[in-house]
Amino acid sequence: QLILGIETSCDETAVAVVRNGRDILANVVASQIESHKRFGGVVPEIASRHHVEEITFVIEEALRQAGIDYNDITAIAVTEGPGLVGALLIGVNAAKALSFAHNIPLIGVHHISGHIYANRLITELKFPLLALVVSGGHTELVYMKEHASFEVIGETRDDAAGEAYDKVARTLNMPYPGGPHIDRLAQEGEPVIKLPRSWLEEGSYDFSFSGLKSAVINTLHNAEQRGDHINPADLAASFQESVIDVLVTKALRAAKEYNVTQVLLAGGVAANKGLRAALTSAFVDIPEIELVIPPLYLCTDNAAMIAAVGSVLYEKGKRADLALNANPGLEM
Ligand code: ATP
Ligand code: MG
Ligand code: FE
Repeated sequence: QLILGIETSCDETAVAVVRNGRDILANVVASQIESHKRFGGVVPEIASRHHVEEITFVIEEALRQAGIDYNDITAIAVTEGPGLVGALLIGVNAAKALSFAHNIPLIGVHHISGHIYANRLITELKFPLLALVVSGGHTELVYMKEHASFEVIGETRDDAAGEAYDKVARTLNMPYPGGPHIDRLAQEGEPVIKLPRSWLEEGSYDFSFSGLKSAVINTLHNAEQRGDHINPADLAASFQESVIDVLVTKALRAAKEYNVTQVLLAGGVAANKGLRAALTSAFVDIPEIELVIPPLYLCTDNAAMIAAVGSVLYEKGKRADLALNANPGLEM
């Protein structure tokens, strides 16, 4: 089984070929970060234009690297949502065109299920499992009792973790995307500045990061007005500690309550060094739960993860037709 995956939900044009849902034969990612940097964030119109320019070349490059042609492809899996509508449309229409022209089955994939299935490219999934999804637009705890079954048991009520990282980074005059810069700076500081942690109601698995983000911004501005100096590295370390404390505590509690066999980390913020270390030490004493952390190239957006989901959905008989459309608010 060879799945061609296509991902254009945000600012990377990505195409991959995955064999049997596990082996990556090609994983091509054309990033647009350089074009969006000077605007301090992703500009949707620019993203769409880049996808249009790149998509054909990225598809051809993926097929070349995999050493296959269209006749070899079992199915095409494409991200149908959530994401930027104009960006999603490019991938969806490329996938539909190929499906129609070469008579290849078509499958629509949810972007966040892709982030979770990135883990299947490095290990076997064991159910029931819990996925901690931390990305640019999502912060969720997802319970899976079997393949392709997703139950969101908690989610952010305002900002996503990655969004908070990017906004705090912008306040500290760091380039977009700010997450990796804050992560690096945090290693050089000490978490000595008192910042809030939003635990929400007792027992809730939901998250909230906008209060923390505002607290960081206020701390900086108040210090500026008083003429005090704040060490940016200490501020980054304190912010990062607050985010990680809440994420790890809630993931640990949910993993125990739901009696899971595996915990998966997923999404762009999964690349965070502090988070990877804190999760690892939280689960080290619990041998009955296996913690899986994806390698960095599978954390941020890519199409191998979309093909990995496509593989499972193909086996389950899921098919889309040419009415498949981009759905920016697609629910899991
Ligand atoms: P979504 O997946 O929710 O649709 P997205 O696809 O835009 O959103 P991803 O590509 O999964 O998001 O992740 C990008 C986010 O990850 C950005 O917010 C970025 O700052 C953050 N990020 C990347 N590396 C790190 C890091 N080392 N530490 C913290 N955040 C990071
Ligand atoms: Mg991105
Ligand atoms: Fe993503």
